Amino acid sequence: MTEKKFASHADVEEKTVSFDRLSDHAYAYTAEGDPNTGIVVGDDAVMVIDTQATPVMAQDVIRRIRAVTDKPIRYVTLSHYHAVRVLGASGYRPEHIIASRDTYDLILERGEADMKSEIERFPRLFRAVESVPGLTWPTIVFERRMTLWLGKLQVEIMQLGRGHTKGDTVVWLPQDRVLFSGDLVEYDATPYTGDAYLADWPATLDAIAALAPEKLVPGRGAALKSPDEVRAGLEGTRAFVTSMFDAVKAGAAAGKDLRTVYKETYAALKPRFGHWVIFDHCLPFDVSRAYDEATQYRDPRIWTAQRDKDMWVALEG
Ligand SMILES: [Zn+2]
Repeated sequence: MTEKKFASHADVEEKTVSFDRLSDHAYAYTAEGDPNTGIVVGDDAVMVIDTQATPVMAQDVIRRIRAVTDKPIRYVTLSHYHAVRVLGASGYRPEHIIASRDTYDLILERGEADMKSEIERFPRLFRAVESVPGLTWPTIVFERRMTLWLGKLQVEIMQLGRGHTKGDTVVWLPQDRVLFSGDLVEYDATPYTGDAYLADWPATLDAIAALAPEKLVPGRGAALKSPDEVRAGLEGTRAFVTSMFDAVKAGAAAGKDLRTVYKETYAALKPRFGHWVIFDHCLPFDVSRAYDEATQYRDPRIWTAQRDKDMWVALEG
């Protein structure tokens, strides 16, 4: 058996970008499972939700925004702290960068380690990494919920609960019934759970479902354009998160070690989820966190570039 290349080092193929209009105010920039960016066009300004990984990569988003509006890009909202989503922020020259208090705390605590770790995990996704000026710092930090009026357009920026990280933030347009979920929801793409709160995640999906969005932009994968597609996205994410965590909890309860639990969980999930993008990338990180949460670590441990590689050798070597 050939050894699996570390994280996403075997992933070198560029993806095709789609820029979809979801409502009078909402657009989705998606790329076949690469990290998505959401766009809200208000009466007087534009908000970007998640930025792409570098300022150079952000230029392609800006080019597509400029094809539909010349309003200023005044706000960037961070769905969470992960480098691959936030380090392109400076490319938009926003007046404000909005994040939850919990996301701010994570940037302070582990942003530097996360940046180094993610850049090494995903070489293709950090095109022109030298254009990144450093960490992305919020200028507006909120707790639980804030409302922003872009003219007459109501934009609700909310923490509905923990899941993918403790700081997860969704953006909700109640008038258009469009929701931007960040990595709380994925579609035909494997949820990354290395920094997750797996026991909390299903209830947070319930809170998203309770808003009854008609359209949803997931963290990765195509935009969901009908209530049925939204339901499929929520249910697929829930199925992965719960079956992965249940398998790991059962293995840990039986006293099995991490490597054994990893091999068994991988085999159990592969038939149903193995075709989702980044499955092989995510599973070692996902099972490591699930094992931690099932045993002794309530909060996710910090991933460093070194811990990433040690873990990979332990599970895949
Ligand atoms: Zn993420």
